Amino acid sequence: MIKRRRTKKICVGNIAIGGNAPVSVQSMAKVDTRNVQAVVEQIKVLEDAGCEIIRVAVPDMEAANAIASIKKQIKIPLVADIHFNYKLAITAAKNGADKLRINPGNIGDISKVQAVVDVAKERNIPIRIGANSGSLPKELVCIKNIPEAMVKAALKHIQILEDMNFTNIVISLKASDVLTTLKAYKLMAKKVNYPFHLGITEAGTLLSGTVKSAVGIATLLQDGIGDTIRVSLASSPLDEVKVGYEILKSLKLRKKGPELIVCPTCGRCEINIFSIAKQVEEKIQNIKKPIKIAIMGCIVNGPGEAKDADIGIAGGKKLGLIFKHGKPFKKVDEENLVTTLLSEINKMI
Ligand code: SF4
Repeated sequence: MIKRRRTKKICVGNIAIGGNAPVSVQSMAKVDTRNVQAVVEQIKVLEDAGCEIIRVAVPDMEAANAIASIKKQIKIPLVADIHFNYKLAITAAKNGADKLRINPGNIGDISKVQAVVDVAKERNIPIRIGANSGSLPKELVCIKNIPEAMVKAALKHIQILEDMNFTNIVISLKASDVLTTLKAYKLMAKKVNYPFHLGITEAGTLLSGTVKSAVGIATLLQDGIGDTIRVSLASSPLDEVKVGYEILKSLKLRKKGPELIVCPTCGRCEINIFSIAKQVEEKIQNIKKPIKIAIMGCIVNGPGEAKDADIGIAGGKKLGLIFKHGKPFKKVDEENLVTTLLSEINKMI
């Protein structure tokens, strides 16, 4: 079991980040925030998939005002992502944003930062601050040690808020390079007890971004570091949520829906495992209960994995032996394997 870093608990709407709260999964809407209908439609799909916090970009006042209508139609907490313009932050907060993503050091005049802090205090909403390796302040760009520069940049933002007696803070330290990200978070973990939002920024497309995100996020989580995650993919936000849960499930930090164990097949396999696994994966997508399903090609590892799962198959010559709760249940012809397996899974859930 992973021993998690002890942090301050911060609440984003009804979702706690840090303290002892489960590591939450978040994503970012990828449609124009000003198009309320499109944003709401996307968020609803993400809610169904288990997304727990959604962030929207707030590039202008129209987007900040759209938050009021969006909030009325969604269930999960919403984070307003703002760069530089304090008026957008204030408007987004007043329109119901549950958290602000803004760096106080980028706002400018201290009275403007104070105005943002005042509204965040009044509405009891946190602010996520952070450093991104790609947008370090000028005076820190010359530091050769990028993780150190990122931590310094974030500490400066933290200091500004703490000087205003504001500690409702979540921190992120993102880089597109995994090793830089790991070093930055590990360094920061020694310095503050605020909860961390983890992610590898601009990680890449579905395959490469998933691998990079999984390596980066899981390495930190395994060290007990990290309280909420966003997998940043050049792909649908639905993929981000799915990958996020797969990372957390693989570390046994969250339970959600089915866990599918599938053998990669080899020359011993005499049934079409790829097709069977694909069909089963599609049909079990909406199952919310945790259930372990093994789809194995032959008797070498098949019976062992199938017995270890809640339900599984071990393939034979154009047939499969179904195991339920660790015991052989029945032999089924290949053409009826998927339907029989799905029907038994449905009975079990
Ligand atoms: Fe090959 Fe059998 Fe292992 Fe699948 S379970 S990879 S078919 S040996």
